[in-house]
Amino acid sequence: MARTTTEEFDATLAPDQRAVIERAKAFAAQVVAPAAEDWETRAHYPIDAMRAACAEGLAAIEVPRSHGGLGMPFSVRLRVAEEFARHDFAFGFALINHHNAMARIADSGSPEAVERYLSRMMRGEIIGASALSEPGAGSDFAEIGCRATRDGQDWVLDGAKRWICSAAVAQVFITYAQTDPGTRGPGIGCFLVDATAPGFEREAPQRMSGIRAAGIGGFRLHAHRVAPDHALEGPGLAFKAALRSVNKARVYVAAMAAGVIEASLARAVGYGQERRTFGRPLVEHQGLKWSLADVATTLEALRGLVYRGAAMIDRGEDAQLAAAMAKKYCGDHTIGAVAKCVQAMGALGMTSDGGLPRQMAAAKAVCYADGTTEIMNERIGAFLGAYAAPR
Ligand SMILES: Cc1cc2nc3c(=O)[nH]c(=O)nc-3n(C[C@H](O)[C@H](O)[C@H](O)COP(=O)(O)OP(=O)(O)OC[C@H]3O[C@@H](n4cnc5c(N)ncnc54)[C@H](O)[C@@H]3O)c2cc1C
Repeated sequence: MARTTTEEFDATLAPDQRAVIERAKAFAAQVVAPAAEDWETRAHYPIDAMRAACAEGLAAIEVPRSHGGLGMPFSVRLRVAEEFARHDFAFGFALINHHNAMARIADSGSPEAVERYLSRMMRGEIIGASALSEPGAGSDFAEIGCRATRDGQDWVLDGAKRWICSAAVAQVFITYAQTDPGTRGPGIGCFLVDATAPGFEREAPQRMSGIRAAGIGGFRLHAHRVAPDHALEGPGLAFKAALRSVNKARVYVAAMAAGVIEASLARAVGYGQERRTFGRPLVEHQGLKWSLADVATTLEALRGLVYRGAAMIDRGEDAQLAAAMAKKYCGDHTIGAVAKCVQAMGALGMTSDGGLPRQMAAAKAVCYADGTTEIMNERIGAFLGAYAAPR
């Protein structure tokens, strides 16, 4: 068989990097796949599996070696997220967000913050999360209402965050707050909020069917005091840092969408080879074969955009446009692709034993997480001038 886009991409990685991906595949098949449906049914945050993944080094891939991580490129982290999403988007999303928090502390944290949190996070003893969104601000991130006020050397935070992955259990929140209302982006600062400190109130997780294992929820801050060694980036820097990290997030969410499509397609093709109607296997009926051929093509096109974005990030290039295109493409096409796979499986496709209802939910979640499809259109629209004149 011809090599898939993924096989071609993995062939560009170093042997030790491919070994990490193989480790993630094995972990996902042995630990995540058998338990994912149970986590969803019980709305259980899989803390033990998170810790086991941490022990395998799968949550600190991009964290520098000097801080105890693997010091590998973004592409490896992205491929690991894609492999997890094949079995459970929610688990993969929680793990990669924990990874984000660690990478951020390693990158911008004070020596005290690194000392206090990083090794415990690396072991999964405490979980990290990123808190940008609020009840009143999502797409328009610059309009966040969470307020940071100076009090001597400290900052005092007041406000609310919502839709935060792992908020159900996390202790360390990379939290954005406005220091100078009315200034939008330039006034935003980034702070390390510790849920065990006074003035932190956790809210009950949101009930998001199909991705309940991600523990998505919120919290409120009431005069929550942040010491100088817990401030990550001050006004002027934090907003730019958030925009830089969101490019990575958009590409890995699109990679996870590819994982969701691949798993759904594998199920539909497997079923279609076994199940017979009108005297032959389902996949030999042209109507169904062409429908799944569309899904396979969508999958490879998505991966093309994803791996291009990942390679640009690895090379240190500006990946804004590539990231927005990968994310937009997954937002536009994942639901339709998974729906075709569900359709191909008849009633079985709708059952939780088949795993596809969770994949359907994930296919919709990728339209919002780390920027909606409409916001991707806005980003891509800003680059349209590059397409104006023939070359
Ligand atoms: C699964 C999942 C995980 C998430 N995890 C996190 C997390 O860990 N941390 C975090 O901070 N946030 C997280 N989020 C929140 C996510 O970033 C927001 O949902 C997203 O930014 C959109 O914000 P909103 O939901 O408030 O929608 P709104 O901003 O209220 O938008 C509503 C609708 O209006 C559209 N819209 C808005 N502005 C425009 C415009 N200018 N033109 C056209 N259409 C527009 C949007 O595209 C959307 O369709 C998560 C969300 C999901 C679904």
